[in-house]
Amino acid sequence: MRFAIVGGGPAGTQAATHAARLGVEVALIERDVVGGAADLWDCIPSKAMIATGGAMSFLVRAEHMGLEPVTPMLDLDRLRGRIGSITGRLGASTTAILRSQDVDLIRGEGRLVGPHQVLATTAEGTRELEVDAILLATGSRPRIPDWAPVDGDRVLATRDAYPPKELPEHLVVIGSGVTGVEFVHMFSSLGCGVTLIVSRQQVLPSKDPEVAAVLEEDFIRRGVKLMKGARAIGIDRTDDGVSVRCDDGRVARGTHALLAIGSIPNSASLGLETAGVEVDDRGYIPINHHCQTNIPHIYAAGDLSGKLPLSSVASMQGRKIAEHVVIGHTVSHRHLNYDKAASAIFTEPEIADVGLAEADAFAEGRKVRVTKVPFASTAKALIDNDPRGFVKIVSDPATGVVLGGSIVGQHAAELISVIALAVTAGLRVQDIVESMLVHPTLSQALAEAAD
Ligand SMILES: Cc1cc2nc3c(=O)[nH]c(=O)nc-3n(C[C@H](O)[C@H](O)[C@H](O)COP(=O)(O)OP(=O)(O)OC[C@H]3O[C@@H](n4cnc5c(N)ncnc54)[C@H](O)[C@@H]3O)c2cc1C
Repeated sequence: MRFAIVGGGPAGTQAATHAARLGVEVALIERDVVGGAADLWDCIPSKAMIATGGAMSFLVRAEHMGLEPVTPMLDLDRLRGRIGSITGRLGASTTAILRSQDVDLIRGEGRLVGPHQVLATTAEGTRELEVDAILLATGSRPRIPDWAPVDGDRVLATRDAYPPKELPEHLVVIGSGVTGVEFVHMFSSLGCGVTLIVSRQQVLPSKDPEVAAVLEEDFIRRGVKLMKGARAIGIDRTDDGVSVRCDDGRVARGTHALLAIGSIPNSASLGLETAGVEVDDRGYIPINHHCQTNIPHIYAAGDLSGKLPLSSVASMQGRKIAEHVVIGHTVSHRHLNYDKAASAIFTEPEIADVGLAEADAFAEGRKVRVTKVPFASTAKALIDNDPRGFVKIVSDPATGVVLGGSIVGQHAAELISVIALAVTAGLRVQDIVESMLVHPTLSQALAEAAD
């Protein structure tokens, strides 16, 4: 069995390592960096900068923990070096794993030239691979509309911001979804002034209003200006910065602007037509529950597939595809259920959720039991001097099965794992209550909320 993969992000690398482990002959074509945009541009650099901002906020807060006040100073060059070293180490370690499993790693641009043929264009020339199965996992890139004159200097796309050439005195962030609010948090914790343009009346429009409210409160406390109900339609460079024009006539002024308004799939030059692979009108490749395209031996995964744009989901799709390529559908091969994917927003406080949301249950008219416990009632939150936020668990009132949950507070992204496991494994609230957890920890709030 020969398997060719185009794109070495989380979807491609996970499919490659898992398929190789199952005995498949795998070739992986990557034009840039193994680890993909996830490691180089998206998840990792953004979280590394957020961690530095978090360290700064922690030092400031530490004053309330019996220390003399500290004023931390940011060193942009050292921050840049730190990000480079993290992404470099991750890329090297993934490459080493692929090589140790005899994956044929091809540095170059890949595209289909037939239903079973993939062409790799490398620095040395071209190489055509004849294979039994193909995975397209080429990811996505930031969406930049015509009205945004991105120059990487004053008008930034997300990829220009790790970190920018200079720290903005005042940053106007356009877009209040997950990426937008993470950038607001990142730059405000590094000491920049920030204005956030929010197209609706709530940041994170798709999230539980109670969760979004905690974040808005934190932004306002830090002096972030929220411009609600406004849609950006143009950006002008001024002598000392930028003016962002909105559709209702308002203008947001700053030294820099940053666009966080979604992404577009990398599907344009993949030669899809040569194999008859269908693409939708937005450029995504539709897939079924096995991640197969309309051509059964050609799979698509990750951001290209238009499902949840998360690195964790891309990796799991890659793993499932490897299994499907090798063994097809068996009883032990569980389908991916995107409704059970945990996700997090790395703001302060962090926000994380999984499974059924209270608001969705309400909208569906579904009977659920919702229990909520504030972190302020746990010893550990008081010890850590950060009692913000809460744990909410949604369960089935008849069976006690955990259906979902959300957490707002420090380490929410880690803590949600317990609820995610319960949702995936069909555990009951009683299973969480009866776990003898460590004291004092924040996870005790989970057991209390489950009770
Ligand atoms: C700012 C930001 C922060 C994010 N943070 C998180 C987070 O914290 N957690 C999370 O789960 N998700 C996060 N995401 C989403 C996550 O980055 C994506 O969902 C993930 O990268 C998708 O993985 P992928 O495998 O589809 O593609 P990618 O990671 O985009 O990798 C695709 C690879 O394909 C290569 N490629 C493209 N075309 C070709 C070609 N023709 N030939 C060869 N190679 C090609 C590219 O060079 C790239 O390396 C974030 C996104 C953004 C924008």
